[in-house]
Amino acid sequence: MAYPAKAPSGGRPRPGFAVKRPKYLRDFSCAGSRCIDTCCKDWHIDLDVREFDYLRNAVQEPELKEILSSAIRMDPNRKAGSETGYGYIELDSSGKCPLLDECGLCRLQVRVGEGALSKTCKTYPRSQVFVNGPMPEIHQHASMSCPEVARLVMCEPSALDLAQVNVDADALRLPATIAIDGQRPTVAARYFSDIRSGVRQLLDAHPSDTSLGLFAVILFAHALSRREGGPSREDAAWIAEKVAAYSSREFAIAYFGLRSDPSIAFSILQAFVRLRFRSPDRVAHTYVDHLSESFRGLSFDPEDEAASLAGYLRARDEFPERMRERPWMMRNIALAMFESSGFPAFDGPELWSQLVVLCVRYSLLRMVMTGIASRQDGPLDPEAAVRAVYAYSRLVDHNVSFLEASRKILEEKGLATPAGMAVLIRG
Ligand code: SF4
Repeated sequence: MAYPAKAPSGGRPRPGFAVKRPKYLRDFSCAGSRCIDTCCKDWHIDLDVREFDYLRNAVQEPELKEILSSAIRMDPNRKAGSETGYGYIELDSSGKCPLLDECGLCRLQVRVGEGALSKTCKTYPRSQVFVNGPMPEIHQHASMSCPEVARLVMCEPSALDLAQVNVDADALRLPATIAIDGQRPTVAARYFSDIRSGVRQLLDAHPSDTSLGLFAVILFAHALSRREGGPSREDAAWIAEKVAAYSSREFAIAYFGLRSDPSIAFSILQAFVRLRFRSPDRVAHTYVDHLSESFRGLSFDPEDEAASLAGYLRARDEFPERMRERPWMMRNIALAMFESSGFPAFDGPELWSQLVVLCVRYSLLRMVMTGIASRQDGPLDPEAAVRAVYAYSRLVDHNVSFLEASRKILEEKGLATPAGMAVLIRG
C-alpha cells in the first residue's frame, strides 16, 4: 500500500484552496525547551538533494558549519535519479540531533531561521492532505507522537472541532504529505470530504461507545471499498444513506447483540505486541519506559498467558468507569488517528487495507489506555495517558513495516474482515 505521492500544483497549495483545520492544530505551539521529549531524538531526518547541498555548502556561521560538516551524510541507500532520500542528519551517540543546543532548541532555526530547516523538521508534527478536486481543499492535522499534540487532542473536548479558513501563510509553507487527485473517477477521491464528514457523523452518532462508532465506520468503509461502477450522480445520496443507516438506533441495538469474545482480541493484540518488541531497537528502549506503566496496569506477564489474560479482562471491565470523567477522549483519539492518516486516501481494496491498519493502531492504543487507566485507583490520570500515547505513537504509528506486517498477518488468518475488525476494536 503506497500513498499517492505526487502533490497537485507541484506540491504547493494555491489561492482558491480552502483549509480545514482542527482546533487542536490552531492551538498548537511547540513547547521547545519545555517539551517532555524532543522530536530531534531517535529520528531519521531525511534530506533531499537541495537540502543536502544547502546544509553542506551554504551555511557559513562557523559553529554551525563545523557541526554540519560532520553530521550531514549521504544516504548509502539513495536511489539513482530520486531527489528524496539523498542524505540525512547523523544523530549523536545519545540519539539526539547534533544541532540541538543545551536548552533543547535547534541552533539552525535560532541562528539562520526556519527557512534553513529540512522539510521533515519544518513540517513535523503537522501534515497536510491536498484534495485537488472541483472544490480544492487542504485538510491539516498533526501527529500524536508529539506530546503537545497528544495533550491537546486528549484533554480538550472540542479539540477536533473544524474551522474552515482560506489558504494562509501556514498552509503555503508546508508541503503536502498526501495528495488526492479529486478529478479521478472514483468515489473516494471525488467524495473525499463527504466521506470524512460521514466518519465524524458516525463517531458522534454513538457518543457512549467509541467502539460502536468505529464499527459503523468499518461497515461504511467496507461498503465504500466495494462500491463499483465509478462515481455517478447517485453516489452522494448513497453515502448519505449509508451514514444515516449506520447512525441509527437499530444499528446500535444490532451491534450490542453481536457476540464478543475479548480473549480472542487479547490474543491477537498480544501477538502484535510480541511482534513489535521481538527485537527492540534503540527507539523501543527509549519509549518502553513510558509504556511500562500500561503493561503494569494490565498485569502483563510474557511468561504467564493466563495471568495476562485475567489482568486484561479486569482492566477492560474497569475501563468505562475510569473514563467516565472524559467520555470524549477515545472519540478524539480515534478521529485524530483517522484524519491524520489521510483516510480515505485510496480506493477499492487499498481503502480497505488502510482501514485494517487503522483498526490495528486504534486497538493497540486502546489496550495501552486500558492499562494506564487501570494503574490508578480513581479516574484516569491524563498526564500519564498523554505520556503513554505519545510514546505508543512513536513506537507503533511511525513503524510502517510493523503495521504492514500486522495487516498481512490478519489477512493470512482470514481476520481482515468486518467481523475480524469488530473483534479487534471491541478489545
Ligand atoms: S515533540 Fe512537539 S513539542 Fe516537543 S519539540 Fe517536537 S514539536 Fe515541539
